[in-house]
Amino acid sequence: MVDFSLTPEQEAIQRMAREFAEKEIVPAAAQYDRSGEYPREIVKKAFKAGLVYGPVPEKYGGGGIGALDQLLIAEELSAGCAGISSCIAINSLAAIPLINYGSEAQKEKYLGAACREEKLMALCVTEPGAGSDVAALTTTARRLNGEYVISGSKSFITNGGVADYYIVFATVDLSKGHRGITAFVVPREAEGVSVGKKEDKMGQRAANTTDVIFDEVVVPAADRIGEEGEGFRIIMQTFNHSRPGVAASAVGVARSAMEHALQYALEREQFGMPIFMHQAVMFMLADMARDIAAGRLLAWQAAWKAERGLDNSKEAAMAKVFCGDMVMRVTTDAAQIFGGYGYVKDYPAEKLMRDAKVFQIYEGTAQIQRLLIGRALAKEKLK
Ligand SMILES: Cc1cc2nc3c(=O)[nH]c(=O)nc-3n(C[C@H](O)[C@H](O)[C@H](O)COP(=O)(O)OP(=O)(O)OC[C@H]3O[C@@H](n4cnc5c(N)ncnc54)[C@H](O)[C@@H]3O)c2cc1C
Repeated sequence: MVDFSLTPEQEAIQRMAREFAEKEIVPAAAQYDRSGEYPREIVKKAFKAGLVYGPVPEKYGGGGIGALDQLLIAEELSAGCAGISSCIAINSLAAIPLINYGSEAQKEKYLGAACREEKLMALCVTEPGAGSDVAALTTTARRLNGEYVISGSKSFITNGGVADYYIVFATVDLSKGHRGITAFVVPREAEGVSVGKKEDKMGQRAANTTDVIFDEVVVPAADRIGEEGEGFRIIMQTFNHSRPGVAASAVGVARSAMEHALQYALEREQFGMPIFMHQAVMFMLADMARDIAAGRLLAWQAAWKAERGLDNSKEAAMAKVFCGDMVMRVTTDAAQIFGGYGYVKDYPAEKLMRDAKVFQIYEGTAQIQRLLIGRALAKEKLK
């Protein structure tokens, strides 16, 4: 049986996240968008509200919530501001490798500190020469006297400049391609770790996005996550868990754009009537509502499978690519409905449109998601 209703607990989570967004995020969003500063005080308040490490099991101090619960939070916070929302969401996303593959000691040490001492995390996969082609990464982890020495540069790292712990993917053997990739947890204070250039971004400007450099960083073997060579699988599984959340964030941004555009269309008059009454405008809004609902259902389906331990790789890619393209379309149409006012910063549409673009880029581009869906289709057919 399919059931689309939320439990009373889920409704409470949704309400709490919406109230947090309205009270803490919305009033500050424009200021952080302008300055590009990291919203430290808001993230602190999100810790207090239990919004940062929701999916971490309760025994380590997290919220112990499910994948669908996490989507409800992502949509609500992103409806407030996608940049500030990503400052909050990236922590639990970066924690996924530890949650799913970490040893008991690692979980106690790193997840425990993250939740109880409000430590921040970042996920370091991308490099200047390895974006979509993750298997081409060249950051190395050289074995030395029972430890590892990590060297290389990571780029576009969300939380790069503020994280206390980096989840780093490096290769123990370049000649092995993706089979050499291995995951590590590296504290920011480790000698040889430095933060590089901070990106000056088009949108989601509150999020802190930087290069992170690892220069001969010595990491004990106890801080390797999973086995040697297991890193590629860990990255892919992490994306299967994170992509529905990213899709839900896109839904939040699109919903906000639609709500603003609808309000404006009902108020703004041209040719003697609200512009909403011109069918060309009304139909844009109808398409927005339809596509937002479709995107939400795809995201929920992908999370539903993840919660049941089912392979959700195709559904996660479908949700991610649909919602990434959908939010770009919806925010572009919202700017159109605002006319000239859609192009200026005094009105909400232009920020929403700038914030939307990166949903087609990060966590695997729109093209890579289509590749994944296509491969899954062929695999199912040839099985
Ligand atoms: C704001 C922001 C935050 C980010 N946060 C993080 C983070 O926290 N951690 C992290 O590790 N990374 C992060 N990233 C990096 C992001 O995941 C990469 O930018 C993304 O995977 C694309 O890699 P690339 O930029 O090198 O583009 P490329 O891989 O060089 O792609 C360029 C273009 O070529 C296309 N292309 C490439 N290969 C193919 C193919 N096989 N078939 C069809 N088309 C293809 C792409 O779709 C794209 O259109 C972030 C990026 C941004 C912009």
